[in-house]
Amino acid sequence: MSNLKLCQGPECHTYHTQDRLKGIKGSKTYQTRRRSSFYYGGSNFCSLNCQNDWFETYGTRAIDHFGRLTEAKHLTEQNAWVKDFDYRGGLNDRSFYFVNKITKEQRPLTEEQYRDTSYTINTGE
Ligand SMILES: [Zn+2]
Repeated sequence: MSNLKLCQGPECHTYHTQDRLKGIKGSKTYQTRRRSSFYYGGSNFCSLNCQNDWFETYGTRAIDHFGRLTEAKHLTEQNAWVKDFDYRGGLNDRSFYFVNKITKEQRPLTEEQYRDTSYTINTGE
């Protein structure tokens, strides 16, 4: 039971669902959900509601802590390459390529390059 994680939603225990109601008769309480894994927010939240509650409470402080964006980022021709693929014939016959989101230019990719998450032709941020 010690491998269970608690939902980090600050209001999780206030949502009245049967699975949150724990304890023996006469002293039941609604409790923060505990699971081996969660689907939301990097596996920290049991629901989007709980994720949103966390952001309402802590989001601004978190952004200030980790660094608030102070200048607009720019997507340029140099960093606008993304990987994509087309189905040539069927589900198992795909062609892989880079496409530039600004110029629309396409460049061929091998399937291995497509799957290599560190492979890029982008330069700069
Ligand atoms: Zn929750």
